[in-house]
Amino acid sequence: MGHGGGVDPFAEDEDQTALRQLAREVAAREIAPRAAHHDETGELPRQAIKALADADLFRVTIGEQWGGLGMGDVEAAIVLEEIARHDVSSAICCQLAYNGPARGIEHLGNQGLKDRWLPAVADGDAIISIGITEPDAGSAVQSMRTALTEDGQGRWRLNGYKNYSTLGHGAAAVLVWCRWPGGDGARGIGAVVVPTDRQGVELTGRHRGMGIHAATESEMAFDGVLITEEDVLVAGDPSSSEPFKLLLSHLNHERCGNAAMCVGAAQGALERSVDYMNDRIVGGRPIAELQGLQWKLADMAVALEGARLLLARAVRLAGPGGTPPPMETAMAKAAANLAAKYVCDEAIQIHGGYGYSREYPLERAYRDIRGLCIGAGTVEAQRNFIGSSMVRGRTTVSAGWRTPAPG
Ligand SMILES: Cc1cc2nc3c(=O)[nH]c(=O)nc-3n(C[C@H](O)[C@H](O)[C@H](O)COP(=O)(O)OP(=O)(O)OC[C@H]3O[C@@H](n4cnc5c(N)ncnc54)[C@H](O)[C@@H]3O)c2cc1C
Repeated sequence: MGHGGGVDPFAEDEDQTALRQLAREVAAREIAPRAAHHDETGELPRQAIKALADADLFRVTIGEQWGGLGMGDVEAAIVLEEIARHDVSSAICCQLAYNGPARGIEHLGNQGLKDRWLPAVADGDAIISIGITEPDAGSAVQSMRTALTEDGQGRWRLNGYKNYSTLGHGAAAVLVWCRWPGGDGARGIGAVVVPTDRQGVELTGRHRGMGIHAATESEMAFDGVLITEEDVLVAGDPSSSEPFKLLLSHLNHERCGNAAMCVGAAQGALERSVDYMNDRIVGGRPIAELQGLQWKLADMAVALEGARLLLARAVRLAGPGGTPPPMETAMAKAAANLAAKYVCDEAIQIHGGYGYSREYPLERAYRDIRGLCIGAGTVEAQRNFIGSSMVRGRTTVSAGWRTPAPG
């Protein structure tokens, strides 16, 4: 199809197109047929994990020296979008490998942590969960109480409770944000990586959420767990909030991955809606002829494309080995969360009673993306960041009206 002859700034290169094609095939062949089953049973999607591992899709962002492909946020978003088009739960297994603890370990961790965990994640043999949220510390994460104490023999003990660790029940380790002695608020917060088979780690429950049934969140207790120097990812400093800020900035990878899954799930819902409108005959004519429904498609596409472009900008700005910038990331996450909610809701409406039925994948996509609007920082948290940054004179790199503030 011809266009104005200009260059698409977000065009994918040959390798990225091949990666998208591979992920699309694996998702359609191996993941889509089993997604409804895992949603019903809540079982870990083991066949999906195996298929993703067999296709080398856990290797995407991990460095080559640990058996990875050394790619970045753009490629992570491509795969996450394609997998989430069929199943958000399976995409979340990739999300943890690309944008969760493994990325933090590679960028911030010591050699021992990298050698121990990165090859296992790249091979698809280890899931590492994230333990940040606590019963009294969700959006206000700096209120967390999980803490290290010195045991008098120069070693640390970890005590605390994390109540929303995605895939904690299937994890080999958990990246736990915790407090070093002496700090309060944002000061003193750092992070450790704890193997789940270590004495004192207990899985105390699994949430029964509205969606994402095959990749649920777990509650985990840490009772006097021994922590060695090698387990420390980022040491907390009781006199400084810089380690906490470093950890927070790393969440931008996760937020972009979250946005990519929303874009993918919404894309799937939109494509199904177009097909359905062309197939469905009501009162002797295809519903594709109804302008009222065509307008729905148009509004869905506008919302989705806007979110997709914001995400494309955020992940490209990360550059090789970098982190997506905070303002662009917050905009991409908020836009993708809201677009996915809107698009999946309208897709159900276009499908009428069938959209509401469990026999079709739409209601599952709707339930799944609903959780993504809360995880990785709520939509409100993104708005808080965007608005409070704006009144301080900060803006995006492409809005020419102010000079971007550093960081
Ligand atoms: C599917 C899913 C997966 C998750 N996975 C993980 C995980 O792997 N690891 C992990 O640690 N956590 C995880 N979480 C937890 C998630 O990060 C928290 O639920 C989230 O940060 C919100 O915290 P909260 O639930 O305590 O809500 P609260 O902080 O109690 O907020 C309640 C409501 O108030 C709003 N609110 C709070 N403060 C403000 C404010 N200042 N201004 C305006 N509105 C505000 C919130 O947006 C929300 O709407 C997950 C959650 C979900 C749903």
